[in-house]
This record gives sequence, C-alpha cells and structure tokens, in this order.
Amino acid sequence: MFEDKNPQRTPLSELGEFKLIDHLTTQFQIQKTSTVKGIGDDAAILDLSDDQTVITTDLLIEGVHFDLSYVPLKHLGYKAVMVNLSDVYAMNAEASQITVSIAVSNRFPLEALEELYAGIKTAADLYKVDLVGGDTTSSTSGLIISITALGTVASNKVVQRSGAKPNDLLVVSGDLGGAYMGLQVLEREKEVFKVNPQNQPDLSMYTYIIERQLKPEARKDVVELLDKLNVKPTSMIDISDGLSSEVIHLCKNSQVGMELYENKIPLDPQVISTCEEFNIDSTTVALNGGEDYELLMTIDQKDFPKIKGNPNLTVIGYVTEEAGGMHLVTRAETKVPIIAKGWNALNPQS
Ligand code: ADP
Ligand code: MG
Repeated sequence: MFEDKNPQRTPLSELGEFKLIDHLTTQFQIQKTSTVKGIGDDAAILDLSDDQTVITTDLLIEGVHFDLSYVPLKHLGYKAVMVNLSDVYAMNAEASQITVSIAVSNRFPLEALEELYAGIKTAADLYKVDLVGGDTTSSTSGLIISITALGTVASNKVVQRSGAKPNDLLVVSGDLGGAYMGLQVLEREKEVFKVNPQNQPDLSMYTYIIERQLKPEARKDVVELLDKLNVKPTSMIDISDGLSSEVIHLCKNSQVGMELYENKIPLDPQVISTCEEFNIDSTTVALNGGEDYELLMTIDQKDFPKIKGNPNLTVIGYVTEEAGGMHLVTRAETKVPIIAKGWNALNPQS
C-alpha cells in the first residue's frame, strides 16, 4: 500500500484507443446465455427473457469518490462493480451484465488500467456478470469510472422501496460501520505516510474494516438466501449512505414510520474497538457512515420464523404508522428522531 508496486509504465498513447480496449477486455469471457453479443459491435445484444429488467448506473470521480493514494486500482475496479451490483440485488434481482466507461488522463500508464480491469474481472467472474461494453475517453486530469449494471427479476419477486407497512420487521444483513472505520484508519495512515514515507503502516489490527472499505461485497448471497427461505421482503434498499439515510428512504417511499433499536444494530468487534480508539460513537458510525453495501429490508411478521436465528439477518426494529415518525430507541430507552446525516453526494466532505 502507498507504494508503486508496478514500476513499468507504458504510455497509453503507445496503443491507441482500439488496441487499448482490446487489450483490457480480451480476458473477459461471456458467461450468461442472455448475452447474445458482448463487446465488439456498436452495441451489445441481450436477450433478457420474460422477467423484468433492472438497470442502474454509478459514476465515480477521482478526488471525490476515491483517493488513489490509498486505494489500489485493482480494488477500485472491484468496488466500482460492487457498488452497482449492490443496487441490482437491492431490487431482489439477479445481476447479469455490466458496461464500464472510463475517462483517463495521460498520467495513467497502461499498467494502471490493467490493474483496474483486473479488479473488474475478479468481480465479474465471482458474481457471474458479463462485461458487454463501455466507452473509453481521455480526461484532463483525474480518473472517472462509470459502470452500468443490468439484472433480471420475475415481476412477482421485484422489491421496491415502497412496500413497507406497519408492523413489518426491519431487518439488516451483515454488520454496519466497518467501511467507515476502515476509511478512518486509511486516512490516518495516509497522513502518517506523508510525514514519513519510509514508514509502512502495520494495519494487521484493522484487516476486517479495511477490507470492508477497500473490498466490499454486494450481498448476492442474501438475495439467494431470501429466495431459499421463501421470504420476499416488503421493501428493500442497499446501505450505501448509512443506516439513517436508508431508513428515511424506506419510510418516505412507503409512507410509514420506524422504530430502530440501538442495542440491536449489528457491529463487528473490530468496529467497536476502532471506534473506542478513535473516540467515536459506534452507533453514530453505523447510522451515518456509508459504504457498507449491506441490505436493509422490511419483512412481514409472518416470515419471522423463517429468518429467526439466521446469522446473516438481524431484526433491528419495526415499522409503524407514518404519524409515528422515525426514531432510534437508545440503550437508555429514550427515543431520538432519526435525521439524515449520511454522506451527501453534493458535499462529500461534510
Ligand atoms: P463506438 O465508437 O461505436 O462507441 P468504441 O470503439 O468506443 O465504439 O467501442 C468498441 C467496443 O468496445 C464496443 O463494444 C464498446 O462497448 C466496447 N468498449 C469501449 N470501451 C470499453 C471499455 N472501457 N470497457 C469495456 N468495453 C469497452
Ligand atoms: Mg465509444
């Protein structure tokens, strides 16, 4: 980390656009029968069956969404795919194809893009999605990546943000706050590195949370688990901006209120210990830290026996009438209104 491990630097101008695209995409194989034609024509051809199609896009800008001084390009490629797949899974859909568009400045050698695409390929292989196209252009300074993901879902299985109803249970997958605390550690080490570049940090105490930040996993497994358990959530959203902001999205879209229990919020021990070290409240981190890419959903009470005791799913609250409002019930049993403090795309530093 923090080091240029790949000393070879081939200028992009040596290849030209077509050779570059070829070079970067030649390793990718088509896995889905729904991909009729992938890269290589003016447009890809897909045959997406009788199910409904979901499509989602994310745009990532260097200096705004990622910092290459501590994000290895391979991880960036992987994460850029995850961010999109997570949105597909949040619809209860199966991801099938992606397109990847990049703008690069001449600051980036071919080897840097090879790293980026290695991460994209690892993600595509693991999650079984086909890379079917994209665009390549130049930028004056930083790196820009835009990924679009497509998926399919039977029309009776699609889950929107709008279906939550009073008395449903509020359920979250995995644990929260790790990605944010991983970022805090990386930011701190970056400052240390600036002062003393010889000093390679020992990050062994923070492996889980750094992994949560650098290599998040979209919860495809949770969508498959729900299907296996025969549970269709009444509403669902992925946690990109922090629990409180996603709770608000579900409530607004479903016109309901929610009670969320502080003592039920799942936290990894490493999140708790790092919060203590940084003197940050772990509940605040779970509520307002982003990028965990877990799934937040509501389920009907009748489905509770099906999920009860499952280590991947935690009941953290319940749905109320809209007039009830949105509250965190604290450990001291006081009710605090939930307000959006999540990461704001228009003002990321705040
Ligand atoms: P056009 O000029 O018609 O947009 P391009 O030369 O940009 O075509 O693209 C040629 C093929 O390569 C298309 O299939 C396109 O989708 C694909 N492609 C271009 N850039 C990328 C990229 N960065 N990643 C993956 N596929 C790409
Ligand atoms: Mg093009």
